[in-house]
Amino acid sequence: MAPALGGDLSGAVGSHGAGLAQRVRALALGLGFDTVGFARAEPLGRGDALRDWHERGRAGEMAYLGARMEERLDPRRVLPGARSVIAVGLVYGPEPLADLDPRISRYAMGEDYHDVLGDRLRALEAGLVALAPGPIATRAYVDTGPVLEREWAVRAGLGWQGKNTCLIDPVHGSYLFLGVLLTDLELPPDEALPDRCGSCRACLDACPSDAFPEPHVLDATRCLSYTTIELRGAVPEAQRQAQGTRVYGCDVCQAVCPWNTRAGRRPPPDPLGLRARLAPRDAWLQPTLAWLLDLDEESWRKATRRSALRRARFGGLLRNALIAAGNSGDPALVPAVRRHAEGPDPLLAEHARWALDRLQR
Ligand code: SF4
Repeated sequence: MAPALGGDLSGAVGSHGAGLAQRVRALALGLGFDTVGFARAEPLGRGDALRDWHERGRAGEMAYLGARMEERLDPRRVLPGARSVIAVGLVYGPEPLADLDPRISRYAMGEDYHDVLGDRLRALEAGLVALAPGPIATRAYVDTGPVLEREWAVRAGLGWQGKNTCLIDPVHGSYLFLGVLLTDLELPPDEALPDRCGSCRACLDACPSDAFPEPHVLDATRCLSYTTIELRGAVPEAQRQAQGTRVYGCDVCQAVCPWNTRAGRRPPPDPLGLRARLAPRDAWLQPTLAWLLDLDEESWRKATRRSALRRARFGGLLRNALIAAGNSGDPALVPAVRRHAEGPDPLLAEHARWALDRLQR
């Protein structure tokens, strides 16, 4: 975060502001972001919907999403005096996935996006400070604080929120990492784009765990990205079969989206090698369940260095691998699953017994 030095920059809008906006846009694109837009820093006015979502328990154990609600809904409570929100996006996987059902969610196969985007956002902050006509205050976020990145991306005209709740960019699709930079510099806001989902409901119909109670609403407690990554204890038995052989997250609602599967799509150029850093590491492209079930904590630590996969923790990944083994129908996994059934960890032992029961049926 750049120093909060204050100063009245409201005069930046107008023809001078338009020139500044152009330079900020060019700066962001030059730093490797694929898309950038501006929104006015003002209250989001979605408080009732968000509170209702929490009160219905749809956030599950993610209590942090309900904390600091006033800040989430008004960026001026995060950065006093904020006037603009700069939203940026970085494409991580525009190519149609040959395998619609990878074991690991595509976003987590490469280097941790917090590091890749965080580094670029810091460079954008520094560049903005240099471009501004006077001292400015800034604050950057990549999934790291009480800021609703996707809401701001919609307001800044990067795309619309699809029925699967992802941000859909009409050019790049939805395999996008988002970041925001709050600033007290005034920039002319971009226009929001219309919703272009139309009558499509491919994501709603394809969801393996029936996690969308209605279009644009996700029940996180049913979503496989929640049960395999955020949930710390046992996965409810009724939800285990839906996991299939995935072990970390799920991409189905994005993989079936026509905005991601359009023919002729090409990844944007990658002159700074950012996409190369986010590209799948060999170990995580499609790891075998046998390998996962044999992992010890030290090997897991090495394999997940600088990877978002650490969020599930070692025990969580093993728990998920046991469920996947139970769903695999592969009898060759029985000895590895049995070792966990007889192991010291009661949570893993219970999931292993469930898997054994299915494998031996
Ligand atoms: Fe919208 Fe269809 Fe994509 Fe779902 S699959 S987000 S309904 S366009």
